[in-house]
Amino acid sequence: MKISANREEALTRWSSRERRLLPWRATRDPWKILLSEVMLQQTQVERVVPKYDYFVASWPDINDFAETPLDVILKAWSGLGFPRRAVNLHRTARIVVTEHGSVIPRDLETLLTLPGVGPYTARAVLCFAYEIDIGVVDTNVGRILARWSGSRLTNKTAQSTADSLIPSGRTWEWNQGLFDLGALICKRHEPKCSQCPVLEWCSWQGLGPDPSIGSAGVSSSQKPFSGSDRQARGKLLKALSDGPVSYANAECVMGIAKETIRADKLVAALIADGLIYAALNGQELRLGKSFD
Ligand code: SF4
Repeated sequence: MKISANREEALTRWSSRERRLLPWRATRDPWKILLSEVMLQQTQVERVVPKYDYFVASWPDINDFAETPLDVILKAWSGLGFPRRAVNLHRTARIVVTEHGSVIPRDLETLLTLPGVGPYTARAVLCFAYEIDIGVVDTNVGRILARWSGSRLTNKTAQSTADSLIPSGRTWEWNQGLFDLGALICKRHEPKCSQCPVLEWCSWQGLGPDPSIGSAGVSSSQKPFSGSDRQARGKLLKALSDGPVSYANAECVMGIAKETIRADKLVAALIADGLIYAALNGQELRLGKSFD
């Protein structure tokens, strides 16, 4: 017979046994936590680990990162995808250095003013760096909360539920436990309910329609990568990390030869995002910003 004192105990006990060893779990350094959270926003854990290690080894301090030219950061970011994150992280680092004395803010309101720092990332920094009692709702946690409650949740309800469940003083442990539960047991498809440490507190238990579908914070399937604008942009950025590309050749490099209008739009968007710039009267494209 299963005997559990309460959900908090059941989850944290299971989590302390099963916790995944991830490098950002060994630190409370706010810069490293912010870096890991930005990298994890749209990239899988396995792909983030080596990049995170490389970035931490290269820029252990936010001051070094802020001083590094953007094109160097973008080259290092290559392979992680969604490079706009790197541009925003670089802007954030410069703001933190110049306006906050190189200290990453420890209040939600100020964190939310930083480029690329949304409600999830801000809360993750507060929880995992500063150990402030606050709920962190990513796609895994959003899914678990909906299943526990047995109904679709709104953004507001998901966040207030997550906040209300935090065991006082154990925010780091609790939220990491939820992440591990979502990654290892309460998976999106075919959750392993029979192995779940908190089965008895779950309203859904895998029976009937899944309440997490369409619930707040729960991501739906991504569009196919092959043939996408994302793929085309990635090809151009990869080529640019080896050196300049002539504007005339950009559509071939992106694998969309003869789609000139589409290519022009993609190049314009990359320039607008601050990822690349046009030099030599617009004839040549280069990585980063022209003032770096
Ligand atoms: S019982 Fe199943 S659906 Fe409920 S939290 Fe556990 S794994 Fe998820």
